Amino acid sequence: GFKMGIVGLPNVGKSTLFNALTRTAAAQAANFPFCTIEPNVGEVAVPDVRLDKLADIAKSKQIIPTRMTFVDIAGLVKGASKGEGLGNQFLANIREVDSIAHVLRCFEDGDVTHVEGRVDPVADAETIETELMLADLESIEKRLQNIIRKVRGGDKEAVQQQRLMEAAKSALEDGRPARVIDVDAEDRKAWNMLQLLTSKPVLFVCNVGEAEAATGNAHSAKVAEMAAAQGNSHVVISAQIEEEISQLEPDEAEMFLDEMGLSEAGLDRLIQAGYKLLHLETYFTVGPKEARAWTIPQGTTAPKAAGVIHGDFEKGFIRAETIAYDDFVSLGGESAAKEAGKMRAEGKAYVVKDGDVLHFLFNT
Ligand code: GDP
Repeated sequence: GFKMGIVGLPNVGKSTLFNALTRTAAAQAANFPFCTIEPNVGEVAVPDVRLDKLADIAKSKQIIPTRMTFVDIAGLVKGASKGEGLGNQFLANIREVDSIAHVLRCFEDGDVTHVEGRVDPVADAETIETELMLADLESIEKRLQNIIRKVRGGDKEAVQQQRLMEAAKSALEDGRPARVIDVDAEDRKAWNMLQLLTSKPVLFVCNVGEAEAATGNAHSAKVAEMAAAQGNSHVVISAQIEEEISQLEPDEAEMFLDEMGLSEAGLDRLIQAGYKLLHLETYFTVGPKEARAWTIPQGTTAPKAAGVIHGDFEKGFIRAETIAYDDFVSLGGESAAKEAGKMRAEGKAYVVKDGDVLHFLFNT
């Protein structure tokens, strides 16, 4: 599955957010820097109203949402790239995630210590980004000599790697993260293999006080400005409220949200933003037994999409019977859609569209 790493300075609300996301007490929040030393991993259902709608129409017995993994990566501090504090292990954890949720403290609370002694989310964002850029620069410098040796030895792949590393190096030396570099489709794989921390897409999470969850505050407004200037996204949420909501029954939660003036749980917005950040899409398999959502990257062909369910589906792929979500819903189900001629047989070259309801035929 796809993994999002939660990073940020100590005491900004990462564990609180992670707890809310995973509804467990596993990542205990405490007003103490470095309280979460082991990376915590949790799987989260991706909320999607379409799935419930499809299940309702097909009278499916079971509803199985698609999932995303969150990793609480604590301990990133100033000097982390130099291996001070608990730095290096955390950098290794970040290498393993597909994207980053960067939590920024936007709440004022004299009782919660800020490591720098002041609330300034834009400066905090720069602190973390600088550490990540330094770590990337160091890892490139370490590897570049070896790559250059390989290039001299006639290694074709190394030529590409060297070119990409040099491009990243020069951006980083200018104080810009690796994600600003436009990477061609044919370089994408080699680029991802470099596993640069600052090449991962980032979502800024403004953790505001309880009273500001619906409106944001002056701090989150500054983050919004910074994010927009960088071409990054942001969400405003109150981790503390989300943690409270996560412990309520669904109908209680709805009432609570209403009272707070919120139309939707912040976590749902966060998860959906995380999904968008990675250019992910969803297709569905729907029947009386179950309605299920599956995650694919945008632009995935039908056999590859089938492979998400099972490798054999991909290997033996014959065709995909396809109904667009809107047709399935407006016509009232599979047989009606089929009668109306809205069920298409699609072959190996078909690029699956977000919301497609699919049924795969394959050789075993
Ligand atoms: P982490 O070190 O980034 O994982 O931060 P924690 O989640 O452990 O939070 C540190 C402290 O800040 C805890 O005492 C939390 O209860 C508190 N905290 C987290 N979010 C909020 C918030 O939105 N408002 C207030 N007032 N306190 C918060």
